[in-house]
Amino acid sequence: MTQTLNLTEYLKRYFGFDKFKGEQQAIIQNLLDGNNTFVLMPTGGGKSLCYQLPSLLMEGTAIVVSPLIALMKNQVDVINGISEEDGLAHYLNSSLKKLEIDRVKADISSGKTKLLYVAPESLTKEENVEFLKTVKISFYAIDEAHCISEWGHDFRPEYRRIRFAIDEICKAPIIALTATATDKVRTDIIKSLCIDDCKEFKSSFNRPNLYYEVRPKRSDEDTNRQLIRFIRQHAGKSGIIYCLSRRKVEELAAVLQANDIKAAPYHAGLDSETRSKTQDGFLMEEIDVIVATIAFGMGIDKPDVRFVIHYNIPKSLEGYYQETGRAGRDGEEGICITFYSQKDLKKLDKFMEGKPVAEQEIGRQLLHETEAYAESSVCRRRLLLHYFGEIYPNPNCEMCDNCLHPKEQIEASKQLLIVLQAVKTLGEKFTQEYIINFVSGNASEDIKDHLHHQLDDFGVGEKEDSKIWAPVIRHALLAGFLRKDVESYGQLKLTAAGKRYIKNPTKFMIVLNAEFNEEDEEDEIIGTPSVLDPELFAILKELRRTTARKLEIPPYVIFQDVSLEQMAMMYPITENELQNIQGVGAGKAKRYGAEFCRIIKKYCEENNIERPEELRVRTVVKRSMRKVKIIQDIDRKLPLNDLATAQGMEFDELLDNIEDIVNSGTKLNIDYYLEDIYDEDQIDDIYDYFMNSETDDLETAVVELNDDYSEEEIRLVRIKFLSEMAN
Ligand code: ADP
Ligand code: MG
Repeated sequence: MTQTLNLTEYLKRYFGFDKFKGEQQAIIQNLLDGNNTFVLMPTGGGKSLCYQLPSLLMEGTAIVVSPLIALMKNQVDVINGISEEDGLAHYLNSSLKKLEIDRVKADISSGKTKLLYVAPESLTKEENVEFLKTVKISFYAIDEAHCISEWGHDFRPEYRRIRFAIDEICKAPIIALTATATDKVRTDIIKSLCIDDCKEFKSSFNRPNLYYEVRPKRSDEDTNRQLIRFIRQHAGKSGIIYCLSRRKVEELAAVLQANDIKAAPYHAGLDSETRSKTQDGFLMEEIDVIVATIAFGMGIDKPDVRFVIHYNIPKSLEGYYQETGRAGRDGEEGICITFYSQKDLKKLDKFMEGKPVAEQEIGRQLLHETEAYAESSVCRRRLLLHYFGEIYPNPNCEMCDNCLHPKEQIEASKQLLIVLQAVKTLGEKFTQEYIINFVSGNASEDIKDHLHHQLDDFGVGEKEDSKIWAPVIRHALLAGFLRKDVESYGQLKLTAAGKRYIKNPTKFMIVLNAEFNEEDEEDEIIGTPSVLDPELFAILKELRRTTARKLEIPPYVIFQDVSLEQMAMMYPITENELQNIQGVGAGKAKRYGAEFCRIIKKYCEENNIERPEELRVRTVVKRSMRKVKIIQDIDRKLPLNDLATAQGMEFDELLDNIEDIVNSGTKLNIDYYLEDIYDEDQIDDIYDYFMNSETDDLETAVVELNDDYSEEEIRLVRIKFLSEMAN
């Protein structure tokens, strides 16, 4: 190898960059020197260049193992773009046809190809191994190397077989690269690739420009509202929202679109054409917000993503770190918000049932870490970096919710001592949960099995508030008094500092966890707890009255009182907003809405009224399946009693539903049914009554009609009347 290369000149010539980022140069030099190399660098750090540049300078072809086909094509295009000659880079994966494969192989054999991207399963394929044996290999690059480990967030079993394939093909230096690796994952990678002798390059994982926040998730509605408000405050900026399920992705994207946000869904269930169109739209800034499952993001190199939001808490902190890492790659603003609820956590836990036990153990442990992260009141940056084995020296990062709104600290040296003693007494063989049960005197099955409830120290801390233990242990981990042993699924071990502390305890301040109370979840507040504006209500009533007179219909046909009341609270000023008012469907909004909106708007302007934000959050029309079925069945002229039976409803209940449908502005024609069971005269009688009545109240009608008709009859005709008059 020529040692006279000026790497910086090559960097400029091939990639147009003036200087190396971080440790790129040292990494590349190490590889050029023929050494195994391990690169741990956060997303956006510039890992690709660490193998791309040397591949161009070395003799032979570099093999790059990468898990994603989409990503390969992209990178190959980039490399081929830097030279006039074709075939500098190629990829080999299951998407290629026979003919294309032959061309790739011909280019490789001719020595033209400097970089060959392969999927792990292609690398281990017998015929490819045979072919590669005939090729001069410069080195092997294993990108996204965390896929090797079950302890990472994206385990790919085929990655485990890479080393066997390499042994068969031929020996050459190996460079493994990843953006996320805890100590455990790092060891797994090095073991599986047999590169104990490698030189490691670890960049700091701190992303100083990212702001971290965890918000309690009360209900989907509330979360949607917060999201829409947030996106409006950041109008025109790019963002990604991660959801757990494809269904949620579709649903949320629709809600955002209905609120005039340029959003699009993205998940693996969409066809590839749609997906790449969405991706391009995002890159070209025709789409502001992508709502996606975690299928989105790997290999998306958009430097100015301004926010990443997790609609659900992710399965692991590795995943969380990777996904939030997509924000602010250019070093500018990057806001990372996660919505957290115990309910979501339990869902994730449930997903794991049915998986092999070992996998469940791992999954649960990863989940515990995310839970602790979400609930802790400690600096989030510090927690995250600690998780990745890095110490964050500053007491306050000023860029996370916990640092910006610090909780009161309390002295907990007594409690810390209790915990450390317990860990010692129990021989450092138990997990956090076990230790907490032990000190708080909770004789779980497990504890009884070990007869630990008979020990003197059992329940030494039972007088303490049980909520104190988890934060005490978390702080002890952060302070280095305890260590969590990953190999043994999270057993707590005493460190040397911990042993010293037992002998010589000092002051120890902690903050308690935030409360994520399940109870609030149910009390769903509809809109703001705003009050009725009596003045506006009177104006609206008057408008209803004059309109009714003009149209010669009773006022309640236009809007019911509840609707007017809500209008006087929510101040809707467009047809769309009006549809969010109870009892107002598209039909009524269109037919009667314009004048009401105009009046409300004028009123707001004249009185300087700030309209509640909440209303402007439009929901997608989501009629219950049941109501859709009822409408369809009535269209098909099904007798109402049969319909009720078929739907498993009482007749009354069916009428309630039909009234709802009609009241919100959908026309329903039930004449076929009425004519079947009543005389025309009878129908006319009741119909006329409503035409001339001041109210549509049922009891009044029964009385006024001299008890000649049953409540049910009256209701049925009233439905006909409302449907014809109002809709
Ligand atoms: P990673 O794989 O570590 O997430 P990439 O290799 O995709 O990161 O690189 C991230 C971005 O940084 C890319 O846009 C790349 O072009 C850019 N980049 C890499 N090296 C340099 C450099 N030396 N100077 C400027 N930009 C660079
Ligand atoms: Mg990369």
